Amino acid sequence: MAFLGRRVGRWPASCIGSTLRRASRLSTAIAIAAVATSLVAQVKVVTTTPDLADVARSIGGDDIDVRSLTTGEEDLHLVTVRPSFLVQVHRADVFVQLGFDAEHAWVPALLQKAKNRAVRPGGAGFCDASVGVTPLQVPASVTRDAGPDLHPRGNPHYNLDPRRMKIVARNVRDCLVRVDKEHRDAYIERHAAFDAAIEHRLAQWTKLLAPCRGSAFIENHRTWVYFADAFDLKIVGSLEPRPGLPPSAKHLANIIELAKREKVRLVVARPRFAELARRVAKDCGAEARILQIGSLASGRGWLAFMDDIVAQFASVLGPDGSRR
Ligand SMILES: [Zn+2]
Repeated sequence: MAFLGRRVGRWPASCIGSTLRRASRLSTAIAIAAVATSLVAQVKVVTTTPDLADVARSIGGDDIDVRSLTTGEEDLHLVTVRPSFLVQVHRADVFVQLGFDAEHAWVPALLQKAKNRAVRPGGAGFCDASVGVTPLQVPASVTRDAGPDLHPRGNPHYNLDPRRMKIVARNVRDCLVRVDKEHRDAYIERHAAFDAAIEHRLAQWTKLLAPCRGSAFIENHRTWVYFADAFDLKIVGSLEPRPGLPPSAKHLANIIELAKREKVRLVVARPRFAELARRVAKDCGAEARILQIGSLASGRGWLAFMDDIVAQFASVLGPDGSRR
C-alpha cells in the first residue's frame, strides 16, 4: 500500500482516474477471456443416464461440462433418439454408457450417426462404465423364440450396487485422464474423494439395512438383483416373466402364491407399473413401493438417490416396518 500511495502521489488525478479505468477495463477483459477460455477448455461429457452424469460431475468438477441424454424417467432399454442427441454426441469429447447392452436398442445407432469417431468404441473418449463389473443373471443362452429379453448379456442395473459403482467411478476417471491429461491430478483427487464418499455411505446403508437381511420382496422388472446382493436381501420373483415380457394372468397368480408362501412384505416397481404393483401387493398382503431405479436428472444425484431407496426398503422391511 505504501508503494501504491507513493506512486499515486506523483500522478495528476485525471491521469490516475483514466489509468485506473483502463486497468479496470483490462482486468474485466482478462477475467472474461479467462472464463471464456475455461468454458472452451471444458471437456464435454455426454452420458446415457443421470447416475453416470452424476459420477462424471463428481470426478470432473468444473473441468467438464456434463449432460445426460435421458432424465431417468424413461425406460433405458427403449429410448427414442432425438435430433438433439446427435448434436450432443457429435460435439462430445467423452461418451459414457451403462453397458451390458442396456442401451443396445438406441446407442449403437446413435454413435454411428453422430459422426464422432473419438467417442465410438475404440476411441479415446468412449467409456463403457461396465468394464470390470461382474454381471449377475447372465443367460445361459440367448434365444428370441420365447419373446424379448432386454438383458441378453446379464443384468445391466448394477447402478444399484455401491461396490460396482466404485468400479464405474474408476472407469470414468480413467477416461477423463485419457482425454484431458492437463487436469489429471484434479480428476484423481476428486475421484479419491468420491470413492471415499461411497465407502462412507455404504457403511451407513449396510447398517440401516442390517435388520432386513434375508427379507423377501418382489420386483416388477429384473432390476434389484445387485441391490439385493449388496445388502443381503431376497428377491422371490419378478412380475415380468422375462425382462421386457408382460406377465400373463397365470404368471401373476403363481407369483402371488409364491409371495404368500415366502411371506413377502414388499413389492417394488417403477411408476409406470404402479397400478399392477399395488394390485399384486394387496393380493399377497404386502406393501407396494413405487421407486425409480436410478437418480433423476432433476434430482440431487446418485448418493442421495441411494439414501432414499435404502430408507424406503428399511421403512418396510426393517424392525419398524408396517408388517412383521
Ligand atoms: Zn432392464
